[in-house]
Parts: sequence; structure tokens; C-alpha cells
Amino acid sequence: MQRLHARYPFLEAARESVASQTVDLATVVEQDQAVVDRAHERVVAALEAGDTGEPHRDTRTELLSYPVARVLVSLVNERILVRKYARAEAEDAFERFTSDFEETVELKSASNDGLSLETLLSEFDLENAVREVSDGYRIDVGTYLPLAADCWGDEWRLVNRALADGEVPIDERELHVLVQEAVRERVEDGLPFDVPDPIAQALTEEVEDIHEVLANLELTREIDTVVPDLFPPCMKALLDSIQKGEHLAHHSRFAITAFLTSIGMSTDEIVELYRVNSSFGEEMTRYQTDHIRGDSSPTEYSAPSCATMQSYGDCVNKDDLCERIAHPMAYYENRLDDEDEDDLEDWRKAAEGEGESESEA
Ligand code: SF4
Repeated sequence: MQRLHARYPFLEAARESVASQTVDLATVVEQDQAVVDRAHERVVAALEAGDTGEPHRDTRTELLSYPVARVLVSLVNERILVRKYARAEAEDAFERFTSDFEETVELKSASNDGLSLETLLSEFDLENAVREVSDGYRIDVGTYLPLAADCWGDEWRLVNRALADGEVPIDERELHVLVQEAVRERVEDGLPFDVPDPIAQALTEEVEDIHEVLANLELTREIDTVVPDLFPPCMKALLDSIQKGEHLAHHSRFAITAFLTSIGMSTDEIVELYRVNSSFGEEMTRYQTDHIRGDSSPTEYSAPSCATMQSYGDCVNKDDLCERIAHPMAYYENRLDDEDEDDLEDWRKAAEGEGESESEA
């Protein structure tokens, strides 16, 4: 196992290296506590510090801790953890590859432990979409848009870029940020996944501990706080229609229900919300909501992306933030991230107050 793979465990070659060692994860989690401890540290550090902690000095332990950390994230199964974990892995990768690039420039060659920009671009199939020019780089707009979708700041908006011949000009640091986004997407891809029982049982303690860390940090509020004022315009419009008693097409009803489920609303809460609609059918709403959340079906459905919403005509009242995101959930997460913590606390209290007065009534 190469040290390079331990430093960049999301690389295809690192995955192959783990696979070629016929490493059985069930045996690792049962017999190699050092790997489990390091995996646990990766996840906890992602939550508490936004990085993945100190790398283990042993290459094998460090490399194997990555797939085990993904297992832990899957077992905890909280969307906010998936996000934080993927961000932390990507941020650490950014620190490492930018320092590798500097060394490559100074020494004119990448060491065995380091990565060159060319290698990293080709890892993410970006080599043909990015070209170097005298004042920086140009990147194909079709590649730029999804990578920049979650980058915060007006400078990433396409309207603020001198788009020419289907290419977007970017400087070196911006290219590195976009590569970091590609890393984040790869780490996030496929999470959470189903974990076989024997592996899950061996990790019970670590999973409980991570749940506790999450509860203490109150991070779940980031997406589990229901703040209709911060909903994306499309979802606000659908919610409005429901509350006015209008009939919604099936795809629209699916979109708003999947969105409300994804932000942590229970079936009862969604049923309550829809009750004002004169065409409301409680039984059907319960059935649909349970189906969407995966309680009565093998699949947990997520809210549709902006592209799907657009194709159904459900994307309405777009605002500035809509230009920078590709998914209504990303819109909502961005708005919550930006919201003042005190205001969110007020929202939570108001929601709790409403809940209490409803139960007293
Ligand atoms: S761009 Fe996306 S988030 Fe914005 S209104 Fe359209 S579908 Fe909703």
C-alpha cells in the first residue's frame, strides 16, 4: 500500500489497492481496533473541527480507516454528517494537494507521495475540460457549472464571469477550489449505503458515540430546522398552493412532500400542513409520505433536482441564489448556513411553542 493512497484515499487507485489486498472489511472492523479508532477519529474530527484529524503514522491503518469511516457515516445515516464528512475530507485533500503542487513546482517533479495537478485533473476526467492560458486557466462552462454550484460567493456566478466560446476564465486558486469540489462530490457519492449486519454490530459503540457528538453539537438543526421563509422559491410556491387549497399535479405533490421529508418533517407534521387543503385526503397523504420516506417502500426518495423541477415547470420565481445551486436542498442548506444562529433559535422556539400549544388544545 502506497503512502500516496493513504494521503488521498478517495483516488481510484487507492480503492483498487484496498480491493487488491482482498481486505475484508468485516475482519478489519472486528480485529483491527487501530483502524476503527482512526476511522472514528476521522468522522468526529469532521464534525468538531471540519478536518479529518491527525493521519495515522501507519500507511495501512490510515488507508483502511477511510472505507471504515464511510461505513460509520452510513450507519449514523444523518444527512448533515454526510455533508460535513465529505467537506472535511475535501478540505484536507485541498491542503495536501496544494502543498504537493508547490513542491512539484519547486522540485520540478512530484515525489512518490505527492500528486501533480495533471494527475488530479485526469483522476476526475477534467483534463480535457481545463486548459492553461497565459493569465490562468479556462474551463468548459458545462464542467464549471456543477462544480461551482456549491461554491459560495458572487464571484462564482456565471453572470460575473467573462464567458467566451463556451469557456469560463478562472485563476489557479479557483481551479484548486473546483478540484476540491470534485473531491467532495466523490466522497459524498454513494453515502449513505447499506451496511451488512456483522459490520454494523462490530461498530455499535462508535456509531453511538458519533450520534452523541452530533446531538451535543446540535448540528442536525442545520437541515432539520423547518424555516419556510428560507425555503427555495419553488417549494414556497408549492406550499402556498397547498395552503390555498389548490390541486397539485402528482409530480408537484411528490416534489414538495419529498422536500419536506428531507428537511426532517415527520409524516404527522406533513399531514397537518396539508390538512388546510380542501382536497386533502389524510389516508392518501400518509401513504404517499411514508412511501417517499421509504417506510412503506424499499427506496427513500429525495427531492427532485432543479433540472427535474424545471422540466416539470415547477421551477418558479428563481432568485440570485438559484443561479448558483443545482438542487433545492442545496438552496435551503445555503440559506440556513447563512442565517444568524439567534434567528434560527427563535424559529426553533416558535416551532416548539406551536407544537406545545397544539398538543394542549
Ligand atoms: S432553481 Fe432550483 S431551487 Fe431555485 S426555484 Fe428553481 S428548482 Fe427551485
